[in-house]
Order: sequence, then structure tokens, then C-alpha cells
Amino acid sequence: MNSENNNQIILGGGLAGLSACYHGNGIVYEKDDTFGGHARSHLENGFVFDEGIHVLHTSNKYILNLLEELGADLQVKDRDAWIHSNGAMTRYPFQANTYGLPKDIVKDCLLGFIENTRNKEDIGHYEDWVRYMFGDGIAEHFMLPYSKKFWGVDPDQLTTDWVNIRHPKPSLEEVISGAIGDQTKGFGINASFRYPRNGGFGYIGEVLAKKCQGRINNGMRATNIDVNKRVVTFNESDEVPYEKILSTIPLPELLSIIPDTPEDVIEASSKLKTNSIYVVNIGVNRQNITDKSWIYFLERDFCFVRVSFPFNFTHDLDSVVPKGHSSISVEISYGNDNPLPGNRDQIIECVKKDLIKVDILREDDEITYLDTYDIKYGYIIFDKNRKPSVKKIHDYLKSYEIIPCGRYGLWAYLWSDEAIMSGKKAAEKLLKC
Ligand SMILES: Cc1cc2nc3c(=O)[nH]c(=O)nc-3n(C[C@H](O)[C@H](O)[C@H](O)COP(=O)(O)OP(=O)(O)OC[C@H]3O[C@@H](n4cnc5c(N)ncnc54)[C@H](O)[C@@H]3O)c2cc1C
Repeated sequence: MNSENNNQIILGGGLAGLSACYHGNGIVYEKDDTFGGHARSHLENGFVFDEGIHVLHTSNKYILNLLEELGADLQVKDRDAWIHSNGAMTRYPFQANTYGLPKDIVKDCLLGFIENTRNKEDIGHYEDWVRYMFGDGIAEHFMLPYSKKFWGVDPDQLTTDWVNIRHPKPSLEEVISGAIGDQTKGFGINASFRYPRNGGFGYIGEVLAKKCQGRINNGMRATNIDVNKRVVTFNESDEVPYEKILSTIPLPELLSIIPDTPEDVIEASSKLKTNSIYVVNIGVNRQNITDKSWIYFLERDFCFVRVSFPFNFTHDLDSVVPKGHSSISVEISYGNDNPLPGNRDQIIECVKKDLIKVDILREDDEITYLDTYDIKYGYIIFDKNRKPSVKKIHDYLKSYEIIPCGRYGLWAYLWSDEAIMSGKKAAEKLLKC
């Protein structure tokens, strides 16, 4: 264990923790034997898999320059994303591409968009916002049912402070063009994406970690924080004194290791919600099973919400799959009102069956790799409790000079670039103290 200069402890070695280490003076303590957190990759038998789809959507100049300087060797690819709904495959995003759907659905979507008379002032929740932005047809035929399948929460229970750029609004001309013909134009901020040439998405964490050599301790789970004596205990035994903590671990986990946290703070924590994601990564002994990047699945007849094809994320196939193979990463969203479809074996069976049903897998395909990951903390749920609860928890942590950052420290919808920026910001705050 390296605890030299341990007056600044960084809890967690995901992208936010690694970025905080790179941009500041702290030392990382990570519970797992590897770093990278949710953005790590797994390299085995010639396959490179991430834990669920991970591609870089950013246009942030600082991040792009930083990753170039660090040698992340990112390649740009055009997104080729699709949606499976109502027995058809249409281009993503749904709101600009209804061509190919049954005619009555296309009609509903067009009329709903054109005749929409909703006012911005009347928006109270996510469902209102979707109807205001896209009209009732697009809302009811895709946005609202997909939202329920993904979050496990009714759309009228979600707020709107996480939307906007994630849901690009097409012009009327684009909606009409995308209804009467196949429109290949990319929409929104993620019409193209970046991905490392080698090593999977996790390579981004690797290049950051390389610059922090000697300041990352793996296998160190924080199990107690004595905020009065300022001592963190790791693995129930190793005590490390500190002056300040920067924490990227999920807020409920953090509070659970601080004894005597006030009742109202614990209560605030109990109101925080995420969905969970069960990932099934599959390697197939068949070349180029599709040209697509990923596909969203609307209906509950399919157990998954999204299926991606990591072998299409890079121009150098050989760097992510063995010769003649393809890779599939399946994401099942569960939690809240969404149950998991059984135990691990049952989930795998259900995934295979549904992949065959939609012609991604064939009955006689040889599966040469299969692994699963159960991601408890998936995507943060923005409901009415989130903002006041996070404020209460952050105020409490601040009073003991614990600075939260990262996706689960800020409890926000952060993509990886935003997690890196949040680590940078927190480290700079610490340097100024
Ligand atoms: C399924 C899924 C798909 C995603 N897809 C994309 C995408 O396509 N593009 C994109 O940009 N972003 C994507 N993201 C978001 C991206 O993964 C996150 O923004 C980023 O990884 C968050 O990094 P972090 O460091 O804030 O948190 P984490 O990665 O969660 O890091 C926290 C670290 O803390 C450690 N830890 C926890 N408890 C303790 C403890 N008690 N003691 C010590 N260490 C502890 C954990 O092991 C972990 O390594 C996706 C996320 C998910 C879940």
C-alpha cells in the first residue's frame, strides 16, 4: 500500500478518481484489483469487452486534447444505431426516423408532431416534456414506453433536469423526410463517436492510471470513516489518517461507512434511486454478424433494452475479436418496477432466445465467449427526491471536508468525459483548500 502523502485520500479508482489523481496530489484507494470502475474493459481469449456499451460522445476540447496527449489513440466512427419496435427496425433517433414502421404509427407520429399545441409553461415532469417536444404519437409509440422499460419508473415521476441534448429535436422537415424515406443523416451530439484503437474503452482509464503510477492502491475497500479522528479504515484493518477526502463511491455506500450519520441524512440517502443493468457479453464464431453499432429494443417481448456490437466500434477488428469472430454486448435494465428475468442461467437462456428471435444469433452459432456483469448502480434516476436529497447529503459531507465527485458522488447523469471533468474540478478544489 502506498500511503505516502496520504493527507488527501481519493476513494475509488474509476475515471473520476483517476482523473482527480492525475490533476491533483491525492492517492487513490480502489476496492477492486483493477481500476477503471464502470468504464473498465475485460481482455480474454482475443475478445475485448466493456461492461455494457461504452463509447465516447464528447466534443469537449479539453478532454479530447488530454486523451490525445495521454496516448488514448481514439478512432472516430459514425454511429449506426437502430431501434427495434412494432416488428420493424428503424434508424435512431426515433423522433426523426419513423420510415419502415406500420403506416398507422407513422401517421400518429407525424400528426402528433405537426398538431402539437403544448406550452412550455405547462411542463411538470418528463412525460409532459416529451409530449411538448415531440407530440403525442412519438411520445406514446416510443419515448414513454422505452422510458418505463429503461428506468422502471413511470415517466410522470421523472423530472426534466437531465434531458435536452440527450434528446435532439428534429425540424418538421426532418420528421417528414424521415417518415417518407430512409434518412441516413446523423442527428444530435453523438452522430459519431470515439473509441480506443486497442484495449477497449478501458484503455482510457489505463492511460490516465499510467500517469498516476505509485499513487494507486488496489484491493483497498474503505470500510469505515471516522470523520472526527479523520481516519479511514480499509478492509476492516488498515487505518490511514487523512486531512481531506475526495470520494467517488456511490453516496449510499459512502454514508453507510460513516458511523453516526444523522438520521435525516440517512433518510435522504434512502430516497436516492438508480436503475441497474445486467450485462451479457457474448463472443460468436461468425464474422461480421452485422454492420450496426447498436440497437434499442422497445418491447418487453425482448428481455433487453439495448444490444451493441463492440467489434464495430473500431476500424481494427483484430484488436477486439479473434479472427472470424463477432462480439455482442447485451444490456438488461432492471430495478424499481422492472424485475430481472430470473437467475444467471435463466437470463442467459432468455438472451440467447431473444437474439435468435430477432436474427442476430443463429441456432447453430458457436458461442466461444460468454460473461455476465451485474451492475447495481446503473443510471441515476432524476425524480423529485433527487435534488433535495443530494443537497442534504453534500452539505453534511462538506461539513467534514469530504468532497464528492464522479457519477455516483454527484449522483448525476455523467458520461465518462463528464466523470473525468468532475474529478479534475474536485482535485483543483482540493488544491486550493
Ligand atoms: C451500463 C453503462 C453504460 C455506459 N455507457 C457509457 C457510454 O457509452 N459513454 C460514456 O461516456 N459513459 C457511459 N457510461 C457512464 C460511465 O461509465 C461513467 O460516467 C463513468 O465510468 C463514471 O466514473 P466514476 O469514476 O464517476 O464512477 P465509477 O466508475 O463507479 O468509479 C467508482 C469506483 O469506486 C470504487 N469503490 C466503490 N466502493 C468503494 C469502497 N468502499 N472503497 C474503495 N473503492 C470503492 C468502485 O469499485 C469504482 O471503481 C455508462 C455507464 C453504465 C453503467
